[in-house]
Amino acid sequence: MLEVQGVVKSFDDFLAVNEASLRVQKGEIVAVIGPNGAGKTTLFNLITGILQRDRGQVLFKGEDISGLPPFEICKRGIGRSFQIVNVFPRLTVFENVQVAVLSHQKKSNVLLRPARNLAVAETRSLLESVGLADKERNIVGSLSHGDQKILEIAIALGNEPELLILDEPTAGMSPEETFATIELIKKLARMRGLTILFCEHDMDIVFSISRSIMVMHQGQTLIQGTPEEVRNHPEVQSAYLGGE
Ligand code: ADP
Ligand code: MG
Repeated sequence: MLEVQGVVKSFDDFLAVNEASLRVQKGEIVAVIGPNGAGKTTLFNLITGILQRDRGQVLFKGEDISGLPPFEICKRGIGRSFQIVNVFPRLTVFENVQVAVLSHQKKSNVLLRPARNLAVAETRSLLESVGLADKERNIVGSLSHGDQKILEIAIALGNEPELLILDEPTAGMSPEETFATIELIKKLARMRGLTILFCEHDMDIVFSISRSIMVMHQGQTLIQGTPEEVRNHPEVQSAYLGGE
């Protein structure tokens, strides 16, 4: 579904991503791990078109998407949540997701007119699937950090992506919220047939839910393999001891 080939991105003289490669098969849950500053977020920004690569290629369903703007990549079926929450804090939970659903249905022009009664069923069903239905009338800025992160996933789902990219989905969450979020990610992958690419610091989570793990170190791909192959790779240990 996704193939990243030798992608490079520098900021001035600094190589943030230096020949990173990655493969994600349809229906898989794939993790990217690596110390802080390894280039995980930058890699996700390159895949989703938020940043432009210097070199390399990103193929999605066999098609070269490198160089396309973010909205084109989104339209082709890649959804995304951010390491730092990115929502409309003064709208309600319901409205945040409704905007995404309407945009996907190409009805965002109606946002200038009363849109309150549009896409209600779709929005509600998405909120139910992530467990936020009972908070649909809450103003987003008043939600807990954990609920805001979950809301971001619901917003991404509004676009009906085939591939969902999650940048540290459990960052800043309590252990209970973390557990619930991981269960949610597994459920979404299973029930919606979603393919998921995520990065995460908690190695227990990574090793328990991933089919495949890519290890990044100083912008490079050290290895991509099964949890077993990654665990047994000699350099992985030293990369971690060096970084975190
Ligand atoms: P990770 O998500 O793995 O922690 P990042 O992709 O955020 O790593 O960052 C990789 C490296 O690139 C870091 O050293 C970071 O400081 C640097 N970096 C990221 N974005 C920028 C930017 N816009 N300008 C300059 N340096 C950046
Ligand atoms: Mg990051």
